[in-house]
Amino acid sequence: MDIIKKLFSFYSSFTGDKGFLGFTTLGYPIPYFCISKGTYPVVFAQGGIHGREYITTSVLIKAVKYLQSLPFNGTLYIAPAINIDGIKIALLDKDFKANANGVDLNTNFPARWGTGSQNKTKLSKSDYIGKSVASEIEVKSLMSFTKYINPDATVSFHSKGEEIYFDFFNPFLQNLHYPLARAISDVTGYAIKVNLPSAGGYKDWCLQFLSIPSFTIEVGSDSLSHPIDLSYTDEIFLKVKDVLPTLIKEL
Ligand SMILES: [Zn+2]
Repeated sequence: MDIIKKLFSFYSSFTGDKGFLGFTTLGYPIPYFCISKGTYPVVFAQGGIHGREYITTSVLIKAVKYLQSLPFNGTLYIAPAINIDGIKIALLDKDFKANANGVDLNTNFPARWGTGSQNKTKLSKSDYIGKSVASEIEVKSLMSFTKYINPDATVSFHSKGEEIYFDFFNPFLQNLHYPLARAISDVTGYAIKVNLPSAGGYKDWCLQFLSIPSFTIEVGSDSLSHPIDLSYTDEIFLKVKDVLPTLIKEL
Protein backbone atom coordinates (compact mmCIF):
# COMPACT_ATOMS: atom_id res chain seq x y z
CA MET A 1 0.00 0.00 0.00
CA ASP A 2 1.50 3.38 -0.93
CA ILE A 3 1.80 6.10 1.69
CA ILE A 4 -1.24 8.08 0.51
CA LYS A 5 -3.46 4.97 0.52
CA LYS A 6 -2.10 4.26 4.00
CA LEU A 7 -2.98 7.81 5.13
CA PHE A 8 -6.59 7.55 3.92
CA SER A 9 -6.95 4.05 5.33
CA PHE A 10 -5.69 5.35 8.70
CA TYR A 11 -8.09 8.30 8.40
CA SER A 12 -11.04 5.94 7.85
CA SER A 13 -10.15 3.80 10.85
CA PHE A 14 -9.37 6.74 13.19
CA THR A 15 -12.17 7.08 15.72
CA GLY A 16 -11.10 10.41 17.27
CA ASP A 17 -11.69 14.00 16.16
CA LYS A 18 -10.65 14.43 12.52
CA GLY A 19 -11.48 16.36 9.38
CA PHE A 20 -10.15 17.94 6.21
CA LEU A 21 -8.34 21.26 6.32
CA GLY A 22 -8.77 21.98 2.63
CA PHE A 23 -8.04 20.52 -0.79
CA THR A 24 -5.10 19.89 -3.09
CA THR A 25 -4.81 21.14 -6.67
CA LEU A 26 -6.08 17.79 -7.99
CA GLY A 27 -8.95 17.79 -5.51
CA TYR A 28 -7.77 15.47 -2.75
CA PRO A 29 -9.07 16.42 0.70
CA ILE A 30 -6.20 17.11 3.15
CA PRO A 31 -6.78 15.13 6.36
CA TYR A 32 -6.04 16.34 9.86
CA PHE A 33 -6.32 14.60 13.21
CA CYS A 34 -7.08 16.35 16.48
CA ILE A 35 -6.03 14.98 19.87
CA SER A 36 -7.46 17.18 22.57
CA LYS A 37 -6.67 16.75 26.27
CA GLY A 38 -7.14 20.35 27.37
CA THR A 39 -7.84 23.77 25.86
CA TYR A 40 -4.35 25.28 26.11
CA PRO A 41 -1.88 25.24 24.47
CA VAL A 42 -2.86 24.42 20.90
CA VAL A 43 -0.06 23.10 18.69
CA PHE A 44 -0.40 22.39 14.98
CA ALA A 45 2.03 20.06 13.21
CA GLN A 46 2.11 19.21 9.54
CA GLY A 47 4.26 17.25 7.11
CA GLY A 48 4.53 16.27 3.49
CA ILE A 49 4.44 19.79 2.07
CA HIS A 50 7.33 18.73 -0.18
CA GLY A 51 6.49 15.72 -2.37
CA ARG A 52 9.63 13.66 -1.92
CA GLU A 53 9.59 14.17 1.87
CA TYR A 54 6.77 11.67 2.50
CA ILE A 55 8.81 10.01 5.25
CA THR A 56 7.33 12.84 7.38
CA THR A 57 3.81 11.58 6.54
CA SER A 58 4.74 8.10 7.70
CA VAL A 59 6.34 9.42 10.92
CA LEU A 60 3.33 11.68 11.68
CA ILE A 61 0.81 8.85 11.24
CA LYS A 62 2.81 6.95 13.84
CA ALA A 63 2.91 10.07 16.03
CA VAL A 64 -0.91 10.36 16.00
CA LYS A 65 -1.21 6.80 17.35
CA TYR A 66 1.46 7.45 20.00
CA LEU A 67 0.00 10.78 21.14
CA GLN A 68 -3.50 9.38 21.53
CA SER A 69 -2.31 7.24 24.44
CA LEU A 70 0.07 9.81 25.97
CA PRO A 71 -1.08 12.05 28.84
CA PHE A 72 -0.60 15.81 28.20
CA ASN A 73 -2.48 19.05 28.77
CA GLY A 74 -3.42 20.75 25.53
CA THR A 75 -4.64 20.20 22.00
CA LEU A 76 -2.69 18.84 19.05
CA TYR A 77 -3.68 19.11 15.42
CA ILE A 78 -1.68 16.93 13.04
CA ALA A 79 -1.87 16.99 9.22
CA PRO A 80 0.54 14.31 7.94
CA ALA A 81 0.38 15.19 4.22
CA ILE A 82 -0.30 18.68 2.89
CA ASN A 83 0.95 18.08 -0.66
CA ILE A 84 -0.80 14.82 -1.51
CA ASP A 85 -0.51 15.42 -5.28
CA GLY A 86 3.23 16.09 -5.00
CA ILE A 87 3.76 12.97 -2.89
CA LYS A 88 1.99 10.86 -5.52
CA ILE A 89 4.25 12.36 -8.22
CA ALA A 90 7.35 11.83 -6.03
CA LEU A 91 6.52 8.12 -5.74
CA LEU A 92 7.43 8.02 -9.47
CA ASP A 93 10.03 10.85 -9.58
CA LYS A 94 12.37 10.94 -6.59
CA ASP A 95 13.45 14.57 -7.11
CA PHE A 96 9.93 16.01 -7.07
CA LYS A 97 9.13 18.52 -4.28
CA ALA A 98 6.48 20.76 -5.87
CA ASN A 99 2.68 20.48 -6.11
CA ALA A 100 0.72 19.44 -9.22
CA ASN A 101 1.18 22.96 -10.67
CA GLY A 102 4.96 22.70 -10.32
CA VAL A 103 4.98 25.24 -7.46
CA ASP A 104 7.12 24.64 -4.38
CA LEU A 105 4.47 25.21 -1.71
CA ASN A 106 6.99 26.13 0.93
CA THR A 107 8.06 29.17 -1.11
CA ASN A 108 4.51 30.36 -1.91
CA PHE A 109 3.46 31.84 1.46
CA PRO A 110 3.26 35.63 1.96
CA ALA A 111 6.51 36.12 3.90
CA ARG A 112 9.17 37.97 1.90
CA TRP A 113 7.86 36.02 -1.10
CA GLY A 114 10.37 35.61 -3.91
CA THR A 115 13.41 36.76 -1.93
CA GLY A 116 14.87 33.35 -0.98
CA SER A 117 18.34 32.56 -2.27
CA GLN A 118 17.20 29.31 -3.94
CA ASN A 119 13.93 30.72 -5.34
CA LYS A 120 13.11 30.05 -8.99
CA THR A 121 10.70 31.98 -11.19
CA LYS A 122 10.02 29.16 -13.67
CA LEU A 123 8.14 25.89 -13.36
CA SER A 124 10.34 23.32 -11.64
CA LYS A 125 10.43 20.17 -9.54
CA SER A 126 11.51 22.40 -6.64
CA ASP A 127 11.91 26.04 -5.57
CA TYR A 128 9.45 27.62 -8.06
CA ILE A 129 7.65 30.36 -6.10
CA GLY A 130 4.46 30.39 -8.20
CA LYS A 131 3.04 33.10 -10.43
CA SER A 132 1.76 35.12 -7.48
CA VAL A 133 1.96 35.02 -3.70
CA ALA A 134 -0.30 32.39 -2.06
CA SER A 135 -1.47 31.33 -5.53
CA GLU A 136 -1.77 27.66 -4.54
CA ILE A 137 -4.87 26.10 -3.00
CA GLU A 138 -2.78 24.04 -0.55
CA VAL A 139 -1.20 27.27 0.74
CA LYS A 140 -4.58 29.02 1.00
CA SER A 141 -6.00 25.96 2.81
CA LEU A 142 -3.15 25.87 5.29
CA MET A 143 -3.37 29.62 5.99
CA SER A 144 -7.10 29.63 6.58
CA PHE A 145 -7.02 26.49 8.73
CA THR A 146 -4.20 27.93 10.84
CA LYS A 147 -6.16 31.15 11.42
CA TYR A 148 -9.25 29.09 12.26
CA ILE A 149 -7.60 26.88 14.93
CA ASN A 150 -5.45 29.80 16.20
CA PRO A 151 -2.47 27.71 17.41
CA ASP A 152 0.05 28.78 20.05
CA ALA A 153 2.85 27.17 18.04
CA THR A 154 3.35 25.31 14.77
CA VAL A 155 5.79 22.63 13.65
CA SER A 156 6.58 21.79 10.02
CA PHE A 157 8.20 18.43 9.42
CA HIS A 158 10.54 18.20 6.44
CA SER A 159 13.45 15.96 5.46
CA LYS A 160 16.41 15.85 5.76
CA GLY A 161 19.45 16.80 7.86
CA GLU A 162 18.40 16.45 11.56
CA GLU A 163 18.10 20.23 11.99
CA ILE A 164 15.75 22.72 13.64
CA TYR A 165 14.94 26.15 12.16
CA PHE A 166 12.97 28.67 14.18
CA ASP A 167 13.78 32.26 13.16
CA PHE A 168 12.75 34.64 10.39
CA PHE A 169 14.29 38.13 10.27
CA ASN A 170 13.18 39.06 13.78
CA PRO A 171 15.85 39.12 16.51
CA PHE A 172 13.24 39.78 19.22
CA LEU A 173 11.23 36.66 18.36
CA GLN A 174 14.45 34.72 17.83
CA ASN A 175 15.49 35.42 21.44
CA LEU A 176 12.00 34.78 22.74
CA HIS A 177 11.64 31.41 20.99
CA TYR A 178 15.18 30.15 21.45
CA PRO A 179 14.44 28.25 24.71
CA LEU A 180 11.73 26.26 22.88
CA ALA A 181 14.13 25.43 20.04
CA ARG A 182 16.66 24.40 22.71
CA ALA A 183 14.09 22.10 24.36
CA ILE A 184 13.30 20.46 20.99
CA SER A 185 17.01 20.08 20.31
CA ASP A 186 17.50 18.44 23.71
CA VAL A 187 14.82 15.77 23.11
CA THR A 188 15.75 15.04 19.48
CA GLY A 189 19.51 15.54 19.44
CA TYR A 190 18.95 17.67 16.31
CA ALA A 191 21.02 20.81 15.73
CA ILE A 192 19.58 24.35 15.94
CA LYS A 193 20.23 26.39 12.80
CA VAL A 194 19.69 30.13 12.33
CA ASN A 195 19.47 32.58 9.44
CA LEU A 196 18.35 30.17 6.74
CA PRO A 197 18.43 32.20 3.49
CA SER A 198 14.93 31.09 2.49
CA ALA A 199 11.58 32.86 2.26
CA GLY A 200 7.92 32.19 1.60
CA GLY A 201 7.74 29.16 3.91
CA TYR A 202 4.90 28.21 6.23
CA LYS A 203 7.12 28.70 9.29
CA ASP A 204 8.15 32.09 7.91
CA TRP A 205 4.52 33.18 7.53
CA CYS A 206 3.65 31.97 11.07
CA LEU A 207 6.55 34.00 12.47
CA GLN A 208 6.02 37.12 10.38
CA PHE A 209 2.23 37.43 10.59
CA LEU A 210 1.11 35.42 13.61
CA SER A 211 4.24 36.02 15.74
CA ILE A 212 3.89 32.56 17.27
CA PRO A 213 6.75 30.11 17.84
CA SER A 214 7.13 28.16 14.63
CA PHE A 215 9.61 25.44 13.82
CA THR A 216 10.85 23.61 10.78
CA ILE A 217 12.26 20.24 11.72
CA GLU A 218 14.32 18.39 9.14
CA VAL A 219 14.10 14.70 10.00
CA GLY A 220 16.45 11.95 8.92
CA SER A 221 20.20 11.81 8.58
CA ASP A 222 21.77 13.80 5.75
CA SER A 223 23.57 10.62 4.70
CA LEU A 224 20.24 9.15 3.52
CA SER A 225 19.09 9.98 0.00
CA HIS A 226 15.74 11.45 -1.10
CA PRO A 227 13.15 10.14 -0.74
CA ILE A 228 14.01 8.56 2.60
CA ASP A 229 12.84 4.95 2.54
CA LEU A 230 9.80 4.29 4.73
CA SER A 231 11.73 1.51 6.49
CA TYR A 232 13.38 4.38 8.44
CA THR A 233 10.01 5.42 9.93
CA ASP A 234 10.53 3.78 13.34
CA GLU A 235 14.09 5.04 13.74
CA ILE A 236 13.11 8.64 12.90
CA PHE A 237 9.91 8.45 14.96
CA LEU A 238 11.94 7.52 18.07
CA LYS A 239 13.99 10.69 17.67
CA VAL A 240 11.06 13.08 17.13
CA LYS A 241 8.19 11.50 19.07
CA ASP A 242 8.60 13.87 22.02
CA VAL A 243 8.78 17.11 20.02
CA LEU A 244 5.06 17.91 20.32
CA PRO A 245 4.63 16.84 23.99
CA THR A 246 7.74 18.91 24.83
CA LEU A 247 6.32 21.99 23.12
CA ILE A 248 2.99 21.51 24.91
CA LYS A 249 4.83 21.33 28.23
CA GLU A 250 7.14 24.30 27.58
CA LEU A 251 4.62 26.76 26.09
ZN1 LIG B 1 11.03 20.23 2.72
